[in-house]
Amino acid sequence: MLKMVVCIKQVPMVSELPWDPATGTLQRDLAEGMINPACRSALEAALRIRETEGGEITAITMGPPMAEEVLREAIALGADRGVLLTDRKMAGSDTSVTSCALARAIERTCAGFDLVLCGFSTSDSETAQVGPQLAEELTIPGVAYVNSIEVAGRTVRMQRISDDFLETLEMDLPGLITVTADADSQRHVPLGGLQRAFAEADIATLDAEALGLDPERIGVKGSATRILNVYSPTAAKKNLVLTGAPKRIVEQLFARFDDKIGGAIGKDLKMDRKP
Ligand SMILES: Cc1cc2nc3c(=O)[nH]c(=O)nc-3n(C[C@H](O)[C@H](O)[C@H](O)COP(=O)(O)OP(=O)(O)OC[C@H]3O[C@@H](n4cnc5c(N)ncnc54)[C@H](O)[C@@H]3O)c2cc1C
Repeated sequence: MLKMVVCIKQVPMVSELPWDPATGTLQRDLAEGMINPACRSALEAALRIRETEGGEITAITMGPPMAEEVLREAIALGADRGVLLTDRKMAGSDTSVTSCALARAIERTCAGFDLVLCGFSTSDSETAQVGPQLAEELTIPGVAYVNSIEVAGRTVRMQRISDDFLETLEMDLPGLITVTADADSQRHVPLGGLQRAFAEADIATLDAEALGLDPERIGVKGSATRILNVYSPTAAKKNLVLTGAPKRIVEQLFARFDDKIGGAIGKDLKMDRKP
């Protein structure tokens, strides 16, 4: 029977994300929240493992109080219980502080866990740092960017796409896996899921004090990372007229743009060029 933890971040629903043209920033507070797509894949992976191996699934999230919504959705989809880490003092936490808080919560609420599943990255911040940092915090092995998982006893066999290779890896439990957003297609909320999520949900709420976190090392104060600017990149356009015979034009084109052309076709043209 496997004891699994799925880390789920609530992210803004992109289609509803209003943009403030005056400041050039996203108005997150006005957007509907949803389960981060890669976290949904991590939950789906845990549900499939439980179908064959048995076990229990704890969904855990850190965020403002409204993040509880993603725990209810996870329970509706089949998770056994939820843990919400919320505290205004933890707002503005960078990935390192977030990983530390998640680790302490997992140790306190899921002692003896076997497998931690995370999304590989989030759709709103996209650092892809929390999974690997969480494995470090928990002092367990971790494998990132996985798109297929099989459990056999105390060993997990995984596949992941790395550059142009498909890698097959094995890891002994306990361990942590980050799952890609395209892994395994996902289920819909089953009949009875809503009853479980709203009438019977087992959700524990913890704050920084309950986690035993040092108040100096949480939130903005405890985070070493600073976001200096957020802006929408603009693409500049410039027209260039190349003249001469076709051979001369092609030579000019490669002389000016061979790094870009090489990048697009995946070849270093300087190395490829015949002497
Ligand atoms: C009160 C409060 C307010 C917050 N407000 C914001 C906010 O406005 N914007 C914001 O981006 N973050 C907010 N956070 C959360 C925290 O700062 C981020 O989760 C963290 O910096 C993650 O960065 P990332 O999205 O790049 O993660 P990545 O490293 O890209 O995430 C990879 C995976 O790690 C796991 N993970 C990451 N974050 C969490 C999480 N919070 N809970 C559970 N699992 C997680 C998921 O499995 C995810 O798929 C808040 C936290 C608190 C307590």
